[in-house]
Amino acid sequence: MINVALVFIAYFFMEFVAWSNHKYVMHGFLWRWHKDHHVNDQYKVSLDKMATSRFEKNDLFFLVYAVPAIILMIIGFSINFLPFVFISIGITLYGFTYFLIHDVLIHQRLNIPFLFKKPGYYTNAIIRAHLAHHRPKNAIDFRNFGLLVFSLRFFKN
Ligand SMILES: [Zn+2]
Ligand SMILES: [Zn+2]
Repeated sequence: MINVALVFIAYFFMEFVAWSNHKYVMHGFLWRWHKDHHVNDQYKVSLDKMATSRFEKNDLFFLVYAVPAIILMIIGFSINFLPFVFISIGITLYGFTYFLIHDVLIHQRLNIPFLFKKPGYYTNAIIRAHLAHHRPKNAIDFRNFGLLVFSLRFFKN
């Protein structure tokens, strides 16, 4: 039971990590890695043409998150300390969610058509909130650095 809780805690903690990393690191001293993810923002093309499907330097951040998860998993199994394994599972599930929502659903870098059908109420809000960061109408829009947690106003309209 505690292990299931660890998966959830690690998962939601990763949303906080992703938010702070996006805000302070990616739009801070590692902007040079993140810049190419914003390169199309100024072009008023349709949303599915916003990002290119080629490799972005920004993708390096997936490695940055994958490495600690892999190390935790290896250590957890080798010293037989399962909490590390479950924390690693939480981190990995978050990374997978991020990839599916951010890269597949929002930026459509992979063509997985069934994923695009009728996004639900919450999914629509996630998409609106993230696109507000890419195409801000004001400074508050731009400050939307999280993925799953965002201002309630994105549930409207
Ligand atoms: Zn950004
Ligand atoms: Zn994006």
